[in-house]
Amino acid sequence: MNCFSNKQKADFSSSVLKWFDLHGRTQLPWQSNKTAYRVWLSEIMLQQTQVATVIPYYQRFLKSFPTIQTLADASIDHVLQHWQGLGYYARARNLHCAAQIMRDKYQSEFPLEMSEVLALPGIGRSTAGAILTFACNQSWPILDGNVKRVLARCYQVEGWYGTAKTMAELWQITEQLTPKTKADDYNQAMMDLGALVCTKSKPDCENCPLTQSCDSFSNDTQYLYPGKKPNKKVKPKKQTLMLLHYYENQLLLYRRPPVGIWGGLWSLPEVESDQDLSEWQNQNLGYTTAPKEIKSDLLRHQFTHFSLDISVAIIALDHLPARVSDTTDFKFIDQRAIPNYGLPTPVSKLLALKLCVR
Ligand code: SF4
Repeated sequence: MNCFSNKQKADFSSSVLKWFDLHGRTQLPWQSNKTAYRVWLSEIMLQQTQVATVIPYYQRFLKSFPTIQTLADASIDHVLQHWQGLGYYARARNLHCAAQIMRDKYQSEFPLEMSEVLALPGIGRSTAGAILTFACNQSWPILDGNVKRVLARCYQVEGWYGTAKTMAELWQITEQLTPKTKADDYNQAMMDLGALVCTKSKPDCENCPLTQSCDSFSNDTQYLYPGKKPNKKVKPKKQTLMLLHYYENQLLLYRRPPVGIWGGLWSLPEVESDQDLSEWQNQNLGYTTAPKEIKSDLLRHQFTHFSLDISVAIIALDHLPARVSDTTDFKFIDQRAIPNYGLPTPVSKLLALKLCVR
């Protein structure tokens, strides 16, 4: 475990803060008119996603949901529609759910106590620290992907982030180094250093303010840290057959269950293979119709743990099945209205292919 003297801590944070004054990012959209709500939204969007991708999503989202109350009162479909293409949809569901908790429990204000923030869905320790530091002038350590990399290199922290031991060591380091004052600039600077200087594939040590304290720089071991995930396995492949039923201009969409892949988004119904088609139709439409065409392996989508080969069965219906109108999870939707629904990106891509529907 690392134990720093007061001088080491002061030298580290002062190097970081000096660099921030000259090179830190201060013009990001969530850095003006800072409120806990705006910072929270940006922090959630920035998880696993680059700044440049997040900016237009952030601006559109805030325009539609300018306050915690408007977000809490919105329908989940409307929220997911604003998340479409950003991935990791559980983030949007958690935002919506947390906004409802804040509306009902905190009069639509963001709570200021760390324990209350941590109790909200989708907010972990680093995100909570970032929100309370950036928006509420408190001092909390953070440990997002960029900060982890900088610290792992500076102090040659062994092991992979996925292990509790490595994470405990990194938290112990960031806790000690985060200053009591100017923690907001310090935390922003650490994130910026990781994003702009100590990058994953090309650490720019020549322009880094931390060379004095960086063990990786002294030992020329930058490329050994952070430790890699062991035994990277080949991703398993899965297959699915999506069912594109249409009647005149209307397509049959299906709302996926709230939990799991693409949770809560509208998608095409799926079966494992064409053998299961008649049974699915009997069960859900009340009659069967053979496909006009089956397009095999039209698209491959990569998930974190597997890749999915998607085939599509195109099925023209001669009338609207009565049974569908009785459910809330199946809906015939006019093709022109589809952009108003939150759809997973690969399904939007498939529909954009104009698969000989009519
Ligand atoms: S000196 Fe190099 S390896 Fe060390 S923190 Fe700076 S950029 Fe990263």
